Amino acid sequence: MKSFTYVAQPARVVFGAGTLGQLAGEIERLGARRALVLSTPEQRTSAEEVAQLLGARAAGVFDRAVMHVPIETARQAREAAARLEADCAVAIGGGSTIGLGKAIALESGLPIVAVPTTYAGSEMTPIYGITEAGLKKTGRDARVLPRTVIYDPELTLGLPVGISVTSALNAIAHAAEGLYAKDGNPVMDLMAEEGIRAIAASLGTIRARPRDGEARAQALYGAWLCGTVLGNVGMALHHKLCHTLGGSFNLPHAETHTIVLPHALAYNASAAPQAMQRIARALGTGDAAQGVYDLACANGAPVALRDIGLRAEDLDTACDIALRNQYPNPRPLEREAIRALLQDAFEGRRPGP
Ligand code: NAD
Repeated sequence: MKSFTYVAQPARVVFGAGTLGQLAGEIERLGARRALVLSTPEQRTSAEEVAQLLGARAAGVFDRAVMHVPIETARQAREAAARLEADCAVAIGGGSTIGLGKAIALESGLPIVAVPTTYAGSEMTPIYGITEAGLKKTGRDARVLPRTVIYDPELTLGLPVGISVTSALNAIAHAAEGLYAKDGNPVMDLMAEEGIRAIAASLGTIRARPRDGEARAQALYGAWLCGTVLGNVGMALHHKLCHTLGGSFNLPHAETHTIVLPHALAYNASAAPQAMQRIARALGTGDAAQGVYDLACANGAPVALRDIGLRAEDLDTACDIALRNQYPNPRPLEREAIRALLQDAFEGRRPGP
C-alpha cells in the first residue's frame, strides 16, 4: 500500500427528506441570528420559502447568483450582507449559488449554511472561484467551506431531468479523478467508488420517475461523497480541460464535464489501471471510459462538444491553454494525444477499446 496523509475537513452534514425544516435550528447552532438567503433568479421562490421558514432569523433575500461568480455580483452580495447586518448566509441552489456564498465568506468570514439542490458538490469543498474581466480565478481557503450542509432530497425532486443527468456526471467526474489523484488516500477511494455507484444506480429511475424520493436520495448521497472527494484531493487533466473550456469558451459547466469525462479517462486508462477498475466496477461495466460514455448516452445527455457551442477552430486554442501549466496527471501531458482527445470529445466519438 502506498503512503498517504489524510486530513478530514470539518463539516456538519444533515441528510434526509424534510431536513430543510431543521434550518432554523442549524443556524442557531452556529450562534447566528440574521441569515442572508442566496439564490439564482430562477430559484427566488425557494429562497423566499426559506426566508419565510426562518421568520425573524431571515435578514433578506439576494437572488442574483449566476454561473462562475462575476466579481460585480460578489461585491453586490457582500454589500447586501453588510447593509442587512447578516451574520450568516444560507445558499439554496447549485454550485453557482454556493459559489456566491463562498465569495462573501472569503472576504468576511461569514459562516455559510449550504442547501444544495444539484449534484455539483461545491458545498463540500474549500475551493472558490471568482470571475473578473473574463478570467475565472480559483483558490482554496478554509473560510469558504460551508459550516453546515443540509441535504434534503425533496428539494431536488423538481430538478429538470436534463440537468439532473449532467450534474450527476459532473459529480462522477470528481470521484473518478479522485481515484487517481496524486494525493489520494484509501478513505477517499472508498467514498469515490461508493459515490459513483450510488449516482449511476439512481439515474435510470430519475429519468423514468423524476419525483422518486428514494432515487433522488441516492443521487444526493452520491453527490455528497463525490463532492467530499473533490474537496479533499487534487484533480487532474479532466478538470483542467473543463475549466479551460468553461472559462475560455463559455461552455456550460455540467454538460462540459459530461462530454469530456469518457475521453479524459480513456487518455489516462493505461497509466491508472486500478482507478479504472474501481470506476468500471462502480458502474457495473467492463471499461471505465466506455461505461461513462454509455451512461451519458443511455440517459439522453449530450456527448459532443460541437453540440454545446464549441467551434472546430477553438480546439487548438483549448489544447494550448490546457497545456500551459504543468499539473499532476497519471499520464504525462502529450500535446498530440490531448489534441486527439479534444477532437474525439468534439465529435462525440465513443472511446475505443
Ligand atoms: P447552477 O448552480 O448554475 O444551477 C443551474 C441552474 O439550475 C440554475 O438556474 C439553478 O437555479 C437551477 N437549479 C438548481 N437546482 C435546482 C432545482 N432543484 N430545481 C430547479 N432548478 C434548479 O449549476 P451547478 O452545475 O450546480 O453549478 C455550476 C457552478 O458551480 C460552476 O460555476 C462551477 O464552476 C461551480 N462549482 C464549483 C465547485 C467548487 O468546489 N468550488 C464544485 C462544483 C461546481
